[in-house]
Amino acid sequence: MQAMEELSRLPNRPLWQAPAKQRAALEGAVEADVAIVGAGYTGLWTAYYLLKDDPALRVVLLDREHVGFGASGRNGGWASAIFPISLEKVASFASRGAALDLQAAMNETVDEIGRVTAAEGIDADYAKEGFLSLARSAAQAERAQSAVRSSVAFGLPDQVRYIGADEAVTRVGATDVRGGVYTPHCATIHPGKLVRGLAETVESLGARIYHGTPVTDIAPGAVTTPNGSVRARTVIRATEAYSSQQPGARRAVIPLYSLVLATEPLDAGLRASLNLDHRMAFNDMRHLRVYAQVTEEGRLVFGGRGAPYHFNSRIAPGFDTKDSVHHKVFQTLTEFFPQLADVRVTHRWGGALGVARDWCPSIGYDPETGMGWAGNYVGDGVATSNLAGRILRNLIFRRDDALERLPIVNHRSPSWEREPFRWFGVNLGLAAAAAGDAEERFTDRPSKVAGLLEKMTGAH
Ligand SMILES: Cc1cc2nc3c(=O)[nH]c(=O)nc-3n(C[C@H](O)[C@H](O)[C@H](O)COP(=O)(O)OP(=O)(O)OC[C@H]3O[C@@H](n4cnc5c(N)ncnc54)[C@H](O)[C@@H]3O)c2cc1C
Repeated sequence: MQAMEELSRLPNRPLWQAPAKQRAALEGAVEADVAIVGAGYTGLWTAYYLLKDDPALRVVLLDREHVGFGASGRNGGWASAIFPISLEKVASFASRGAALDLQAAMNETVDEIGRVTAAEGIDADYAKEGFLSLARSAAQAERAQSAVRSSVAFGLPDQVRYIGADEAVTRVGATDVRGGVYTPHCATIHPGKLVRGLAETVESLGARIYHGTPVTDIAPGAVTTPNGSVRARTVIRATEAYSSQQPGARRAVIPLYSLVLATEPLDAGLRASLNLDHRMAFNDMRHLRVYAQVTEEGRLVFGGRGAPYHFNSRIAPGFDTKDSVHHKVFQTLTEFFPQLADVRVTHRWGGALGVARDWCPSIGYDPETGMGWAGNYVGDGVATSNLAGRILRNLIFRRDDALERLPIVNHRSPSWEREPFRWFGVNLGLAAAAAGDAEERFTDRPSKVAGLLEKMTGAH
């Protein structure tokens, strides 16, 4: 098929990319109050909130590549209140009340991103129009209704709402729509504009950002790079999936790849005919997650998981594209919208998500050593990284408000298995999710295999 051949020829280039602002690499020894490793959302939001509270603080950020090189410059642009594990799972290691507090904080975080971008004049194409997860089979419809029932039973009558087929299809004109779950707690953004805008904002507040500076050692009071070092009372690791490459964190997190493509801008008439003339985030309720948004300029951005986990948690530029997976993502897009079979895809790319063994994000700080970290957001870090930035500020300043009592604070996940068990288990899990979707298409009944997988991981 012609479109697939063209897709395979596309280079690895995120739609959101723009020429990186030139910033120098670190040379020599520098003194600071806070050194942050990684200039993605986590590092930048942390710097932002610290400097807003204490403008005199000396904050230094170091990135091996450049601002937004990692997932922050490659994601699908959902700033959502979705948490990667179910609230029931959170309650199982914390309490029901703590899980409810976490959901409330996630909801509020979506608005906080809108508030700060407006206040700081960061044009990140922020649009809070919610998120619709379509049910496109009987099995998905059953899952959608059960998700809404669970949410209400958990004590959240307004978090999500089931909508019937007639209403759902007027919101997103995909095929086979049988209903859907809608939540207002989601905005879509332009990831690149957000990360670059944040970087300029923290620089205007006094932070220094170094590009091309790989940190080779992160220790209490100091970070080391090939041509320099930073001595600082507080050191924050904000390297998400890349933490898997650092000594001491190799089994704490694994990189899981997610691959994305973007179409040319769709003309307004076509978008209107597909009920895509909005900025609402959407997907369907399949097990192997897909995600979509229509950008400010009318492009359809569509992504999905399913790329293999690479032995020993390897991360390499070559893994950002994989023809068979990008083809599958395009095929899924055209299953949603057969009218787009001839649309031109102009960009494809991919990136690594950070995943802990229990799929639970964590944010922590040890006041004794001055070492902090935040990450393991799975595919839900756009909003969670903002919450992480505020929590780290509170922990560093020893501020006492409700945020640092959230159950993700100082959460310790179990370690991943050693290889080759890890490689085998993770890829088996990915295959089971894909097989579950295929089974549901064939039988139109909920897949037992995929259901079991979700029970085992607690992911949803
Ligand atoms: C394809 C894709 C789609 C996604 N879609 C969504 C979505 O729609 N919604 C959502 O909520 N989340 C999504 N995510 C997840 C989200 O993007 C991430 O959780 C979030 O961006 C993590 O931000 P971060 O700052 O913690 O990490 P990153 O953005 O990955 O930043 C880490 C930085 O650390 C630097 N670094 C690494 N090692 C070193 C070192 N040794 N020395 C110096 N610097 C180093 C890297 O260069 C990088 O810039 C997606 C992720 C991917 C990959």
